[in-house]
Amino acid sequence: MELIDAKTIVTNAVPNNNYVKFNYVMNIYRGCNHGCIYCYARSNYYEKTDNFDCVRAKKDALRIIRDDLLKKRKTGVILTGGVSDPYNPEEKESKLTRNALELINAYRFGICIITKSDLVKRDADILLDIKEHLPATVNFSIICSDDETCKKVEPFVSTSGERFKAIEYLSGKGIITGVLMDPVIPYITDTIENVQEMVKKAKDHGAKYIYISTLVTMADIQRDYFLQEAEKHFPGISQKYKERFKQYYRCRSPHYKKLWNIFVESCVKEGINYDMHSVNESISRGYGIFRDLIQP
Ligand code: SF4
Repeated sequence: MELIDAKTIVTNAVPNNNYVKFNYVMNIYRGCNHGCIYCYARSNYYEKTDNFDCVRAKKDALRIIRDDLLKKRKTGVILTGGVSDPYNPEEKESKLTRNALELINAYRFGICIITKSDLVKRDADILLDIKEHLPATVNFSIICSDDETCKKVEPFVSTSGERFKAIEYLSGKGIITGVLMDPVIPYITDTIENVQEMVKKAKDHGAKYIYISTLVTMADIQRDYFLQEAEKHFPGISQKYKERFKQYYRCRSPHYKKLWNIFVESCVKEGINYDMHSVNESISRGYGIFRDLIQP
């Protein structure tokens, strides 16, 4: 695996009121080889490279992370997985994410993981240690309930079914898990059946919450890649996108209001939380003086 230079790895977070709360962001890897055809991290905004599908690691990552943690004036929750999956296939051998979790535990920070890989199950032991002092949550990004569609849009990572099983495994151990149904891809995953099934499976497998967006964002080379790959599996979709969304950044499902209503109805029926404010309230409960760290 190629190594790249980095000065810092754990940086301060920009506040985001829509998601699980976090104070810092950590990306050990650059690029991702999971091949999701809609991935926003492929756009030039995040990294100008024609090598996105090749995972690179930051040189001397663990020393830099340790120094970054020592320099923070306050402890807090660290998000990892925003622009590169921390559980890419290289992680199996390199164990950089696992070793970073050990540092995070030692310096008493919390963790919020976003991943599409069931490799995260391997680190359940450290997550259980972290949750003794600050929240440790695993957020599985899952956008479709069926594996057939999943293999077309996310070809090189655990299937949706495998991710739901990982939720069951981790939640069975007492780790808080959630589902991020983000993005919702118009003309592919924006069906009522998919929304209903996603909510049901999230609940049935032990997720404590589910988050939905009703759109996908598209920028520069990310859009070109998406349209090229989507056309192979969903003939005619490229023309539909060109007609409806032109060069728009936000490509929202034509029936997003209906989808949102169905989503809320399904969450109420299944008894799963979808309101991120109350999700954050419940995640922070019991952490005493640390509670203010993850409040809006
Ligand atoms: S797993 Fe995440 S970072 Fe990797 S290609 Fe898929 S969406 Fe992009």
